Amino acid sequence: MTRFPILYLAFFGISALLETIRMLTQKELDNLREKYKYLSGHDQLTKLLNRQGLMDSVKTIKPNENQTVFMLDIDNFKKINDTYGHNVGDIVLSEMAKLIIAEAPSAKICRWGGDEFILWFPTGGGDVETLRKDIEQLAIRVPNSDKIVHITVSAGVASGDFKINELIIAADSALYKAKYLGRNRSEY
Ligand code: GH3
Ligand code: MG
Repeated sequence: MTRFPILYLAFFGISALLETIRMLTQKELDNLREKYKYLSGHDQLTKLLNRQGLMDSVKTIKPNENQTVFMLDIDNFKKINDTYGHNVGDIVLSEMAKLIIAEAPSAKICRWGGDEFILWFPTGGGDVETLRKDIEQLAIRVPNSDKIVHITVSAGVASGDFKINELIIAADSALYKAKYLGRNRSEY
């Protein structure tokens, strides 16, 4: 007769244990899912959105005539890598990202690739020339040295009631024009 309550308690205890394990596993899975979602949408070096992250964050937003895209590309960036090393090139990318974040709080900011950045202003605003000139003023110290690196960027700007992909293509053409016309400038 005493067996029945003991078995019942044992069964209850095991069930509670299994339920706790299931909940912990679910929490871990949720955390992992969040972590990989973040990683798949962000650039690890600058912590900015990557291409996927930018596209995901704009997909539900309706285009409007005020939206504006800046596409920035560092001028002669290869030379910085060649002169000071890849690690200094990485520092330059991070410092530039920090400056853009500080200057364009209303923009979605993306490291589009290599030394190319996209700023998307959903309802306009943003002053590309001020940003370009402030980047030119950045003084980036080379670690363990008294050397200072300066950079310039070229920028392409596009705006209007278009899909983001179309705006990016237009900003890319404008950027190409800025490079062609001598760099360290912005074009529309
Ligand atoms: P341009 O003025 O025409 O843009 O000349 P550029 O030398 O900047 O040419 P480009 O934009 O094609 O070069 C991009 C370089 O960026 C090439 C690649 O070695 C470097 N790069 C790409 N990703 C990284 C990175 O994560 N870190 C560093 N340090 N360099 C990178
Ligand atoms: Mg470049």
